[in-house]
Amino acid sequence: DSRLQLVAQRIRSFPDFPTPGVLFRDISPLLKDPNSFRAAISLLASHLKTTHGGKIDYIAGKWRVRGEGGLACGPGPRRRVADLEIQRDALEPGQKVVVVDDLLATGGTMHAACELLGQLRAEVLECLSVVELTSLKGREKLGGVPFFSLLQYE
Ligand code: 5GP
Repeated sequence: DSRLQLVAQRIRSFPDFPTPGVLFRDISPLLKDPNSFRAAISLLASHLKTTHGGKIDYIAGKWRVRGEGGLACGPGPRRRVADLEIQRDALEPGQKVVVVDDLLATGGTMHAACELLGQLRAEVLECLSVVELTSLKGREKLGGVPFFSLLQYE
């Protein structure tokens, strides 16, 4: 798929970041190139349309579910799992959510997001990422929640 090639061309690798021996995959070039970004969104959207049709109520990214680090997710009562938190009234019980992140490594972040959304009684239909680091087996941490990624690196 030529769209996938557009995406792959815009993933940068940084050796030894943040610590020696770690190969950091950077998606910033993808966000800065409109054609590549459109290609990524289009691929993810096609997948979701095929898999879930019109059943999805929300897409959760780290703008509604976000690490605290100085910028809280908003006013009002919140729920928190690990270092992610969300406003408690962001979702109604039973609403169907897809979780998206740039990258799946150990799966800890995605798992925490699922846990948090589960505490709000939302139903997580699927988790998605642009990049998956397969050797870390993050998808196995998601406890049976389906997972889909555009690009896989060891
Ligand atoms: P995990 O919790 O799966 O170990 O790590 C995934 C989270 O850390 C994601 O939110 C992701 O943004 C960030 N992360 C970990 N490693 C990388 C990496 O190599 N590249 C990027 N872009 N993010 C990473």
